[in-house]
Amino acid sequence: MKSQAKIEYDRLTYPTVIVIGGGFAGLEVVQRLAGKPFKVLLLDRQNHHCFQPLLYQVATASLSADSIAHPFRRTVAPMPNVAFRMTNVVGVRPADNVVVTDHGELHYDILIIATGSTTNFFGNKQVEDQAMQLKSISQALDIRSDFLQDFEAALYLSDEAHQRRQLNFVIVGGGPTGVELAGAMAEIRMTVLKNEYLELDSSQMMIHLIDSGDRLLKAFSEKSSAKALRYLEEMGVKVNFGARVTGYDGDRVTFLDGSHMDTNTVIWAAGVRGVCLPGLEQGFHPQANRFNVDAFSKVQGTANVYAIGDVALMTADPAWPKGHPQVAPAAMQQAQYLVKNLQRAEKERTPFGYVDKGSMATIGRYKAVLDVRGFHMGGAIAWFGWIFVHVMSLVSFRNRVMVLFNWAWKYMSWKNTIRLIIRPYLRKTTVVEPHSTVAS
Ligand SMILES: Cc1cc2nc3c(=O)[nH]c(=O)nc-3n(C[C@H](O)[C@H](O)[C@H](O)COP(=O)(O)OP(=O)(O)OC[C@H]3O[C@@H](n4cnc5c(N)ncnc54)[C@H](O)[C@@H]3O)c2cc1C
Repeated sequence: MKSQAKIEYDRLTYPTVIVIGGGFAGLEVVQRLAGKPFKVLLLDRQNHHCFQPLLYQVATASLSADSIAHPFRRTVAPMPNVAFRMTNVVGVRPADNVVVTDHGELHYDILIIATGSTTNFFGNKQVEDQAMQLKSISQALDIRSDFLQDFEAALYLSDEAHQRRQLNFVIVGGGPTGVELAGAMAEIRMTVLKNEYLELDSSQMMIHLIDSGDRLLKAFSEKSSAKALRYLEEMGVKVNFGARVTGYDGDRVTFLDGSHMDTNTVIWAAGVRGVCLPGLEQGFHPQANRFNVDAFSKVQGTANVYAIGDVALMTADPAWPKGHPQVAPAAMQQAQYLVKNLQRAEKERTPFGYVDKGSMATIGRYKAVLDVRGFHMGGAIAWFGWIFVHVMSLVSFRNRVMVLFNWAWKYMSWKNTIRLIIRPYLRKTTVVEPHSTVAS
């Protein structure tokens, strides 16, 4: 029998707003439309919101998966005018005001697309097939299992070349994700590998950070880029600039200049592209792989379809003629503007203007960089600032407490124990020879 609350939801006669995607943008919309005269339906293929900026901490065994995720049902349960359905949206028919999902068709009056972005392999199918990526919790858990399995497997290899390959980690892309991952992997070498895999020589573990450009963190100031590079080098990460990956077969990465590197772990963090749904071709920008939207987030060529967050390309904001950065604050601010505008008459709506509050990235304990409006800072103060901002941005109080506790435990004792291989990662190719002898 249906509960009274849901009977009342079904009877609501407000305009139906379908929100596709419960990431930073979609969730912000839902939270701000709660209690307003709209009948809101949130659709997501996952049953939880994921705090992507901390995915790398799950991938490197610093945080458990549930501390950076929150179930949508918990969020919407107290909201009488909001419902959630877990489903994969496969297309839109704007002429009929219909969204097509794995579970059938749904009618909307207003559609908000907040499907975010996915990893961009720039058409390289071989790399896409073999490399690991970091856009979801399951991918983060794959990376975690993979490096733990590599450590265990390395113990069975007597051949030094195989052992080196097993412990050689290649991260492609010198943006915040690549830099943060490389720093966290270096901490793992310094703590876990050194203290708990006593039979292995920890210096055999190599961490390569590959970038085709000439500096890390291109969206940051040059000073912060240089500082991040210095921190990584101090931690023993090999940073390779001007190197363009052309292939990876599961054993060997090849570069444009003909050189190669043997490894069975490549993590691709070299770019993203919008998750654009079929059916809205007139609004699709093929070079940017995002939906063209006007200053009010409306998708070009549509009457009642909006796109916000990573999937939206807004060139109408004079300060950002190439579109806004694909970051959480831009997604949330677009959501806030859109909700305000939806409650106003058409001619009273205000165009979106992004307020850039700055950028920060962390490399390791007491090592972070921070840029705010021409001012930049590094070191311990920036690191504590990074911790504060990230903890406060998490969705639930429980998650904030868990993250804070885990970090306090980890960084004070270096005895973090979130290192369980619960769901082993199955490689497409394997280099572990079954008859290898145990290394002495
Ligand atoms: C590893 C990593 C680190 C990052 N670090 C930072 C950082 O430090 N600071 C920062 O500001 N930003 C960071 N970002 C970027 C930031 O996370 C994104 O800009 C932000 O998540 C965009 O929000 P969004 O709502 O547009 O999309 P998302 O948060 O990606 O949400 C999209 C949602 O849509 C759902 N979805 C997608 N397609 C479908 C479909 N067809 N049907 C149903 N549901 C669908 C997804 O399941 C997901 O829940 C990072 C991103 C990553 C991956």
